[in-house]
Amino acid sequence: MFTNRNGIEPFESKVWLSSPTMHGPEIEYVKDAYETNWMSTVGRNINEIERMACEVIGCNYAVALSSGTAALHMAVKLAGVKTGTKVFCSDMTFDATVNPVVYEGGIPIFIDTEYDTWNMDPIALARAFELYPDVKVVVVAHLYGVPGKIDEIKKVCERYGAIIIEDAAESLGATYKGVQTGTFGKYNTISYNGNKIITGSTGGMLLTDDKAAADKVRKWSTQSRENAPWYQHEELGYNYRMSNVVAGIVRGQYSYLKEHIEQKKTIYRRYKEGLQGLPVRMNPFDEAKSEPNYWLSCMLIDEAAMCRQVRSDCEVLYSRERHKSCPSEILEVLNRYNAEGRPIWKPMHMQPIYRTNRFVCREEKEIDVGRDIFHRGLCLPSDNKMTIEQQKQVIEIIKKCFE
Ligand SMILES: *Cc1c(COP(=O)(O)O)cnc(C)c1O
Repeated sequence: MFTNRNGIEPFESKVWLSSPTMHGPEIEYVKDAYETNWMSTVGRNINEIERMACEVIGCNYAVALSSGTAALHMAVKLAGVKTGTKVFCSDMTFDATVNPVVYEGGIPIFIDTEYDTWNMDPIALARAFELYPDVKVVVVAHLYGVPGKIDEIKKVCERYGAIIIEDAAESLGATYKGVQTGTFGKYNTISYNGNKIITGSTGGMLLTDDKAAADKVRKWSTQSRENAPWYQHEELGYNYRMSNVVAGIVRGQYSYLKEHIEQKKTIYRRYKEGLQGLPVRMNPFDEAKSEPNYWLSCMLIDEAAMCRQVRSDCEVLYSRERHKSCPSEILEVLNRYNAEGRPIWKPMHMQPIYRTNRFVCREEKEIDVGRDIFHRGLCLPSDNKMTIEQQKQVIEIIKKCFE
């Protein structure tokens, strides 16, 4: 049906959503680990990236861990979440934001999204506190590298004496009022997963200004050994520390963070320009207050330009309609041309695993904000290595969907 429409040929090599971009120094640091035989969870690379993270992000302590999810788990433990503890969480996000709450037996209560930055809605959050004034922990993600409404969220949390855990996994390098994300909560996390803005192939970090907290995470993440001549344990331990080999990759990547952000920003701008005239908008941010890292470029289709699209749990149907399209059609067509897009994170309150959890919106409406953005939005190919020509073709493909 769509192949070779109007003479557009499929991409010879796949255009990825966001793939690792290596530069050379990474392998040197990995080699250093190998040649010095620091092939475990101790070594120069780890020390160095913890120092660099503190310097770049502007926090006092960084603990390198095996993943962003592990970092979130440690943050949730630090926050004192236990069996039955209610925790307010971002709703439209990757499930790794909220799963660690459940690891500790906590109960996520999902807070709806706002349209201005696609992050946690502070008004819905305030409403949630009216319903559950005793909640003391809020987990906030910055979606696709766009900082959320931090001032407003902080204000609400302060009023109720709740602490913030920032999930800055997608937003490393993004700033709000000139300050880096990953510094606004009491315990914050970043990720070096393979598709993030910089990567170690895997990995993550817990960030905090609280020395005692950082020390606890160092201990917990290395099996909670007590200071004794033998393996002495008073607390539950985890094997969550980052490998010095992985840290070598991260170490080599750090000096390219700015460059990656610039590339991603260029990609975002090209989409914004190239998609003008179509009934779509790019994922928005507060231009006065924040500078995203532009990790993924996303777009939202105007309601009036949506063709019929019905999604069940695991399947989708849509109808081809003139001058209209939908995320499912665009993703399918992109895929046929060998380009990778992705649906918006399906909101947690719509996930079978979390469907019975409480979900709080700004107001009772038939369609909440998260559901709406999931329905009408998608992530576009946003790989650093995508050429101008490739991106132009991606834009042409999207245009064809609306013909
Ligand atoms: C990637 C990601 C994580 C988890 O990071 P891992 O390093 O893959 O464990 C958590 N939250 C969000 C929002 C993410 O995008």
